[in-house]
Amino acid sequence: MRGLRTAEILKLQRSGNAKRLRQTKKNYAKTDAYIHLTYSDRWGVIKKVADTVANWGKARLFAECIDKVHFDPVWAGKTAEEQAFEQVISRFQQFLTSAGPGGDSLGMIVHDNNESVAMKHTELMRKYYETGTLWTSVDKIVETPLFVDSSLTRMVQVADLCAYAIRRYLENDEVDLFRRIFARADRLSSGKTVGVRHFTSNGCVCEVCSTH
Ligand SMILES: [Zn+2]
Repeated sequence: MRGLRTAEILKLQRSGNAKRLRQTKKNYAKTDAYIHLTYSDRWGVIKKVADTVANWGKARLFAECIDKVHFDPVWAGKTAEEQAFEQVISRFQQFLTSAGPGGDSLGMIVHDNNESVAMKHTELMRKYYETGTLWTSVDKIVETPLFVDSSLTRMVQVADLCAYAIRRYLENDEVDLFRRIFARADRLSSGKTVGVRHFTSNGCVCEVCSTH
């Protein structure tokens, strides 16, 4: 890995493409801590984390996956990001009610910190707290999300891994990681998956749609 990276940087230095050189160095800087691992070592670690998640009996996965080709923000009256947030909050709230499998508990949203998203999602949470989402009132979730630095917070990294696995399945049909973590999607006792939804064209036969 180190050899490949050095070769690519040297090639860009010789080409005189300063912009691409800067971006390439920036991209590689994020992998400094992993450079000693081979590609298969890295995959091995990721799969181990996914298997660990799969075996957390009490963990539940909630996700909204929107195919933007099929999403009309004018018709929906909101952006895809807002709809995704609202859906995840609504499903988590339902999970936490006495009728839901979470059994009358209280919940908190822990969110990767990003200034513009932090402001927006805090405002949305306050609005849901006062008037509910389109689907439910929100009285089981703390009104202000807790924003954390994801590089210091392992559970947010685990959530990122789950998002990555779902995205790679829906966009590239990669089933390996997806099947490991999809086992934790919130389900009714009938087996119907309610925690994860794929918003796309009618008639999608993916594993998310066919169990929803
Ligand atoms: Zn689908």
